[in-house]
This record gives sequence, structure tokens and C-alpha cells, in this order.
Amino acid sequence: MDRPGAGRFAPSPTSDLHLGNLRTALLAWLWARSQGRDFLLRIEDLDQQRVAAAPEVARRQLDDLQALGLDWDPPVVRQGERIELYRQAIAGLETYECFCTRREIAEASQAPNGGPGATSWRPYPGTCARLTSFQRDQRRLTRAPALRVRAHDARQTVHDVHAGSITGPVDDFVLQRADGTPAYNLAVVVDDGLQGITQVTRGDDLLDSAPRQAWLARQLGHPVPEYVHVSLALNAQGKRLAKRDGAVTLADLQAHGVGASQVLRRLCRSAGLPEADTAAEVLAALAPGQLDNPLVWRAWTVA
Ligand code: GLU
Repeated sequence: MDRPGAGRFAPSPTSDLHLGNLRTALLAWLWARSQGRDFLLRIEDLDQQRVAAAPEVARRQLDDLQALGLDWDPPVVRQGERIELYRQAIAGLETYECFCTRREIAEASQAPNGGPGATSWRPYPGTCARLTSFQRDQRRLTRAPALRVRAHDARQTVHDVHAGSITGPVDDFVLQRADGTPAYNLAVVVDDGLQGITQVTRGDDLLDSAPRQAWLARQLGHPVPEYVHVSLALNAQGKRLAKRDGAVTLADLQAHGVGASQVLRRLCRSAGLPEADTAAEVLAALAPGQLDNPLVWRAWTVA
């Protein structure tokens, strides 16, 4: 490929960005821009129940990125406006209806499986894969089905800049939820493909999704992006940082007299990067290979 393509940041507008999200955005921007890639923003607002206040939250998220000096190439894409694209993608895949509740799946699965990354993800045990059409008709009377892709026990290898070659199982994951909403794992792959994303930088809680997403990209005829999973920010208890951990958003910090450039410096320090007042200055000061230093990958405890 002659063009290096694009990187992206894809926040869900469920709440304001906290320091960990801002750090991931900064790293995604630096990885993309330092390699001459475009940088795209996508608002992942499919979960209508969780994103009731989406337009305002999304606007504040963009304002916060701008305050740090991160710029992006238009347009900003909103998943809520792309439902038809997801439906078309699903229509081209081999799928089946699934009537399982979360509880039924938990009971039928074994212990968290051998996917990469220490998460609680468990492959779907395939309960509804073998239903007869009669059984499906019966179940449909009482429950709306989700749609799962039939992955035929595939395995997929992806390349992560830090973690290296990762091979993971591809289960029959959900493409469309029972309420008709396209699932994250489907939408993210459709969008990354259609937007020409060649590099996915995001939190390493999503590392074990990468093999499934890469597999789906191939099914849909999209190139598989390069992955850069970066560490999450943790609170003092070693748990994933959340808004309830105090002054962790830009607005909170500004209310305590901490300006955007101080926040940027703190993020840079956490990742072993040159400290500067704007993202453009950080980019200009970046030495070759500096984005590869261990602090980028090591979990950051926000004191
Ligand atoms: N919307 C997801 C989040 O905010 C990010 C998904 C991704 O980067 O693939 O966690």
C-alpha cells in the first residue's frame, strides 16, 4: 500500500474521558501522526441505553481532545448514523439465532479461556448453534433472538506492536443483540474497514477481541489493521480507573486549577514521552522508537 492509511480513536459517549482515555487518545494520535497516518475519530454511540446524553458527552470528549492539541481528519463518524451499513454486513455473513441469556451462557461455559490477555472473556459454548428449526420457532415465541456469526471453531493470528503475534480462538460471537442493535464487535470491524483504518491503538482490555475482529475483517473482505494495545490507567486499588475515582477528567482537574497543558505533561510522563505543552510539540520532540518504551505498556497507576 502506498498510503499509510489511518489510525483512530473511538470513544463511547457514556461519560467524559478520564485520564486513562486521554492517555490512550494521545498515544493513538502520536502513533498515527508520527507515521504519517490520518487520524480519525469515531463516536461509538450504538448502546442507546448507556448513551442517553450522547450528543453532549461526545461534544465534551471532542473538546477535551482539542484542549490537549489533538487534531483529527474529518468527518467525525457516529455509529448511530450507520446502522444500515452494519445490517448489510450482517446480511453477508453466515449467522444463526441465539436465545441464550447471559446466565445460561455463563453456566454452559468453562473457565475463562485461553485467549490472550487476562480478561474474563469466555467463548460462546455453541448452545444455539445446533437448534432445529422447530426449536427455534418455539424459542422465538418467548424471546427475541440475538444473531451470532458461525465461525466454525476458527483461530486467528494478529500482530500487536507490543505483544507480538497473538493467536486466539474465534467463537460464534454476537453480531446483533436481541434488541436489534448491531454489536460492538461487528460495528468496529465494519467501520475500521470502511474508514481505511490501518492501525488500531486502544486499551489492552481489548487485546483478546483482536483475533475475533481480525477474523471478521477478513470475512468481510477488509484488510486486517496493525494493533497497538496500550496499558490502562489504574486507581490506587489497582482497579481500572473510573470517573468515580475523583478528579480524573479534564474538567475536574481544571476545576482544581490544573490546566490542559499540565495534564498533557502528566500523560507524557506516565508514558515516558517528552513533556511539552501541546501534542504537536510532543510529536516534534519524539525520538525514533520512543513510542515503544516500556512505560507505554506498563499499567499506569494514577496517584
Ligand atoms: N468504544 C470502545 C471504548 O470506548 C473502543 C473500541 C475500540 O477502540 O475498538 O472502549
